[in-house]
Amino acid sequence: MLNYRSASIAYFILAALVLLLMACWLKAGWLLVPLTILYVILLVLGSVKICMGFYIPAHCKIDTLENKALLTFDDGPDERFTPAILEILDRHQVKAIFFLIGRHAENHPALVRQMADSGHAIGLHSYGHAFWFDLYGRKKMERDLQHAEGITGEITGKKPFLFRPPYGVTNPVLAKVVKKLGYKVIGWSVRSLDTIGKDAEKIAERVILGLHPGAVILMHDTVEITPAALERIIAGAKEKGYSFAGPDEWLLEPTASVVGLPDKLTG
Ligand SMILES: [Zn+2]
Repeated sequence: MLNYRSASIAYFILAALVLLLMACWLKAGWLLVPLTILYVILLVLGSVKICMGFYIPAHCKIDTLENKALLTFDDGPDERFTPAILEILDRHQVKAIFFLIGRHAENHPALVRQMADSGHAIGLHSYGHAFWFDLYGRKKMERDLQHAEGITGEITGKKPFLFRPPYGVTNPVLAKVVKKLGYKVIGWSVRSLDTIGKDAEKIAERVILGLHPGAVILMHDTVEITPAALERIIAGAKEKGYSFAGPDEWLLEPTASVVGLPDKLTG
């Protein structure tokens, strides 16, 4: 399996072989250049493509062959748009996962409580969603995530264990922190691009076109266009024969290191 560990082992073995050839007076030194370029490309791709599971195993789809999809919302709660999204989800009896930014949750505890009371799952998306989050050292990253965990945990009374990295970027430091804190990392398989889209109809079309059994849809409850797009996505998905899986239908066990959590994604 191609991951950080296997790629690094392969790179260092091949580099050692090249050095051995060089020691035998063979002109093999140039081989180090393409080898290193390939390794660096892999490190970067692994960092930005969360579903490669290069640094951290990530769940990017529901394990089902049925026409079911799961809605996820990042970056909230937002007092301007989250209430409308919660109203639409409630009206259609659809459950979703909200990956909250800790400082937003801190500012809008009532919205977080409403999410939990409506049966939605709450995941973490860091405390500050800093642009430089991925350059944090291990201790700082751990403090940031634990801060977010404490806030949402206190509001809902449940320890959150689902985590989506800010910007979907992963690296070896985050991998260690996530493992230590026992989080389950959730990616996505369908991007709505609602943060850059200008037309709700087009955003919905894109999502409907990308639907597949077990699709995990990435949206944001911090943009104005999302509620309108969501209405169309729910209607279009139903027309296409899809239903929406609640987080509790996603039968993935929490990681073993997390103690005292429900068996399903109900937290
Ligand atoms: Zn985000």
